[in-house]
Amino acid sequence: MKMSLLEKIKSLSQQYSKDVVVFRRHLHANPELSYQEFNTVKYVEAQLKSFGITTLKPLATTGLVAEIMGKNPGKRTVALRADMDALPIHEANAVPYKSTNDGVMHACGHDVHTSSLLGTAKILNEVKDQFEGTVRFLFQPGEEKNPGGASYMIRDGALENPRPVSIIGQHVFPLLPAGKIGLKEGMYMASADEIYLKVVGKGGHGAAPDLAIDPIVIASHIIIALQQIISRNASPKQPTVLTFGNIIGKGATNIIPDEVNIAGTFRAMNETWREAGLQKIKKMAESIAEGMGGRCEVDISRGYPYLENNPELTQRIRKAAEEYVGKENVVDIDITLGAEDFAYYSQVIPASFYRLGTRNDARGITSYVHTPTFDIDEDALIIGPGLMAWMALQELKN
Ligand SMILES: [Zn+2]
Ligand SMILES: [Zn+2]
Repeated sequence: MKMSLLEKIKSLSQQYSKDVVVFRRHLHANPELSYQEFNTVKYVEAQLKSFGITTLKPLATTGLVAEIMGKNPGKRTVALRADMDALPIHEANAVPYKSTNDGVMHACGHDVHTSSLLGTAKILNEVKDQFEGTVRFLFQPGEEKNPGGASYMIRDGALENPRPVSIIGQHVFPLLPAGKIGLKEGMYMASADEIYLKVVGKGGHGAAPDLAIDPIVIASHIIIALQQIISRNASPKQPTVLTFGNIIGKGATNIIPDEVNIAGTFRAMNETWREAGLQKIKKMAESIAEGMGGRCEVDISRGYPYLENNPELTQRIRKAAEEYVGKENVVDIDITLGAEDFAYYSQVIPASFYRLGTRNDARGITSYVHTPTFDIDEDALIIGPGLMAWMALQELKN
């Protein structure tokens, strides 16, 4: 009996998972920081070539786009994305594939995303006579660092010629056991902007505040007042966060300093509110300082936009995931006010970002991302490559 395409993809994903683990361990042992993924992208290119994939285009300095054309390649194009950068963390795991680049670690699973997408490419290249259209693979740099490698990929044309109908991204999820897939329709992740406030007063003797303009008191008022933007101006239906995690005022018990520096993060789940909120922060901080006789210099460093999982696309990839891993293994996940540069793609074309379960309590694999003990249950790599291939094929058919 002839194997169905779904069965064929599952069987290839199982068969190639050994290679994917080899890719993952190589990348894990050789991590590179954001925008320095020179050896990583070379490795990715070499693997793609070894599969026989020749439509390759370097972009965004350390990024790469590859394409696999099925029959009638101009019919439609679907994009799949992996990020490739690591974090400035010293790995604490005693594993054979431990990082050999001291102080740098794949602690966010981008080695998993990259190796899984290589597996997806290997599978789809094998079945390219069985689908119509083109699958575009985006291997991007710099997800962990502003302004985000995705913004450079878009700038350099990763979503043009032709524009893909949709883009799908995958991220490891240490809260979900390996074997499970997490999805969320609509609102999913936050925009994240950095706020730097320099409150300038006039320093002096702590015993003579009347001769000074105390920036510590001004800064205190600003911090408290800005929280009212969250409680009084933000819609109760829109999650939003303002956190100041850093205050520096270099006075002493008896010295009023000249200035105080405050730094924090503002997060929103709506681009219109994001803009309005940033303006209110600026205006309120400036006018409070001014009213108290000092001034406040507001510097906003823009981060990633809000990430919207296109509802229709997410429903379709949910169906594909249910077909692939079974309905019981596809779960709803909650929103998070974390940020992801995949959001840039969602501002341009329908996008969906789902989670690949990587946890295994029995084997003690429970650490969260961005920690020195983060690791994954590599059984997730039996599923990841084939699942994404199946999602892409369903999008091409849609
Ligand atoms: Zn991360
Ligand atoms: Zn990540």
